[in-house]
Amino acid sequence: ATPTSIMVGTGKAAETGILFKGGEHLERTHELNAIVLDKTGTITKGKPEVTNFTGDAEALQLLASAEKGSEHPLAEAILAYATEQGVDLVDVDDFNAIAGHGIEATISGQHILVGNRKLMQDTQVDVGAAEQALVDYEVDGKTAMLMAVDGTYRGIVAVADTIKETAPQAISALKENGLDVIMLTGDNERTAQAIARQIGIDQVIAQVLPEEKADKVKDIQLEGKKVAMVGDGVNDAPALAVADIGIAIGTGTEVAIEAADVTILGGELLLIPKAIKISHATIRNIR
Ligand code: ADP
Ligand code: MG
Repeated sequence: ATPTSIMVGTGKAAETGILFKGGEHLERTHELNAIVLDKTGTITKGKPEVTNFTGDAEALQLLASAEKGSEHPLAEAILAYATEQGVDLVDVDDFNAIAGHGIEATISGQHILVGNRKLMQDTQVDVGAAEQALVDYEVDGKTAMLMAVDGTYRGIVAVADTIKETAPQAISALKENGLDVIMLTGDNERTAQAIARQIGIDQVIAQVLPEEKADKVKDIQLEGKKVAMVGDGVNDAPALAVADIGIAIGTGTEVAIEAADVTILGGELLLIPKAIKISHATIRNIR
């Protein structure tokens, strides 16, 4: 391997917005045969917006107030919606994030739960009244969250996130390069499948807890694959680190960028097939 051709390759990559942390990562990129992409913030823009809310005014007030303590993009969407609706937020006495499931809070002695179907199942909240709406939202690729007060179902809120315009083109380029393309998400199966279908991904691993993401990457490596992981979030960092090549989205968190081997500026997914192309060209020059 000539250091010069690697320097030329990493320089060329950098010019287009692909920042390799070292030449060895550029060399290894040509060996990839599987790529795992996080959904929220990687395939989608990561700026979800509320599209539907069903519940009374008090439910909305408790819902939004409870979400004040969360840093999740879903919480931001709910708070923006509540502000728009002129809701006055109330004080929260206790707050707890339940990883991969939702949140709980105590507001003037009432116990508020907000989260997915699994959270409601685990806490024995009957959400039968919302089941049809839930399924309808999920089929549309929306993320729906249920809310309960003192164990009783009180409302449902749906949010939609925009898919990046170039995602379908990037996915098809990756497939043309012979890579298995897999979507990995904490979101539910139906929502994930709906998004995946729109961009041409047919392998989906859904409802993955944050701490399980790295294990899913390892599972694919155990099948003998060289795996790239693409992600933006704090919860993607361990998976980025175990992957053969960790690719951080430049618009993502500092933690993800630190854990990765390469960062794509602006989160442009087309830069991923571009990086593979540059790697192949570099290797050809080496040999
Ligand atoms: P992802 O970022 O891929 O959606 P997470 O593990 O962060 O994965 O979240 C998984 C699911 O948990 C979400 O789809 C949502 O249903 C629920 N959830 C997470 N955070 C919140 C929150 N602040 N409020 C309500 N639900 C939440
Ligand atoms: Mg994400």
